[in-house]
Amino acid sequence: MEKNYGFELERYISKERFNRIKEFAKDKETPFLVIDLAKVAQKYDELLETLPFAKIYYAVKANPHESVIKMLIEKGSYFDIASIYELDHVLALGAAPERLSFGNTIKKAKDIAYAYSKGVRLFATDSESDLRKLSENAPGSRVFFRILTDGRGADWPLSRKFGAHPDTIYKLILSARDLGLVPWGVSFHVGSQQRDIGQWDHAISTCRYLFDAVAEHGIQLKMLNLGGGFPANYLSPTHKTSVYGSEITRFLKDDFGEELPEIILEPGRYMAGDAGVLVTEVVLISRKSEANQYSWVYLDAGKFGGLIETLDESIKFPIYSEKTGPALECILAGPTCDSMDILYENEKYALPASLAEGDRLYFFTTGAYTQSYSSVWFNGFPPLKAYVLED
Ligand SMILES: *Cc1c(COP(=O)(O)O)cnc(C)c1O
Repeated sequence: MEKNYGFELERYISKERFNRIKEFAKDKETPFLVIDLAKVAQKYDELLETLPFAKIYYAVKANPHESVIKMLIEKGSYFDIASIYELDHVLALGAAPERLSFGNTIKKAKDIAYAYSKGVRLFATDSESDLRKLSENAPGSRVFFRILTDGRGADWPLSRKFGAHPDTIYKLILSARDLGLVPWGVSFHVGSQQRDIGQWDHAISTCRYLFDAVAEHGIQLKMLNLGGGFPANYLSPTHKTSVYGSEITRFLKDDFGEELPEIILEPGRYMAGDAGVLVTEVVLISRKSEANQYSWVYLDAGKFGGLIETLDESIKFPIYSEKTGPALECILAGPTCDSMDILYENEKYALPASLAEGDRLYFFTTGAYTQSYSSVWFNGFPPLKAYVLED
């Protein structure tokens, strides 16, 4: 059956904005990313509008571009950093150390000491050993404790690696006080691109239980960190931001009443994802045999050039061609000589049958976890370039 190549452009970007980006991209050599700074700002505002009592600690790793960080500093954002390199990066751009949270639970003692010397006083932890390193290298700091979640419902789960069971966390909170640290709060991450809002409900209840359990020992926790997981707009639809906001508010009030503790959010993907358009060019179109049903379409951007989140086809980016007419289902792959550099094989993307080598394809929603993930020199291909549209 003949399908027509239909793509709802305006589900991802306004026609006007896309024309602006296309014009901007016209003479530049592919592949590259265009970051629409106004979009990041808009997402920041939208999240604060729906959760006005929260503080946003932007997860820098999603998109550490200078312009993004600077703009967010101006807007009054806080930042979640994971390494001393991200620390130096945001400090150099003007972030105040009081606005930083060292959110990585995996830290060298000397890196803790370095962050402390730079003025960082808020740290995440999930183990006895890390807690000891904190007490020795960041004495008196506020510490929050990350509980384990299973990442169910998330397109890009972070389960298993981070966090500890609530019983373990309970003991850590008690020993933090004995070690001269300030037990400040509890955190979790429900998994990235979390489409099941109910996952926050369960995690918030566990936090409530911990608040109560340690209160019996005279420890008043002050902060609840709801992590990241807020979605970007990929092919599979999600609820709107306002639905996340109202549901999470309901869960919080159910468990904590009207007097909420300090609420922290750590959005990464949500903030930067929708702001990116990755512009790529078709290098080669081929068929493996005459009888083969599908064409292979090879692009100049692949898993090593920014699209690593196509691993297991977890993240399905919207892909747009300007051509119209009958559609052709194809297998999409990158340009490198690694056989894992295939983007989509199970999911058959429909592209225009008239697609030709040299045509451009636009990957929408590529503002998060693309440039920062791209390899440096694999097969000699340079890391993904990024341009920022400042207005
Ligand atoms: C990566 C990360 C985030 C951001 O997660 P998203 O799903 O991209 O919003 C938030 N907090 C921590 C601790 C992280 O490691």
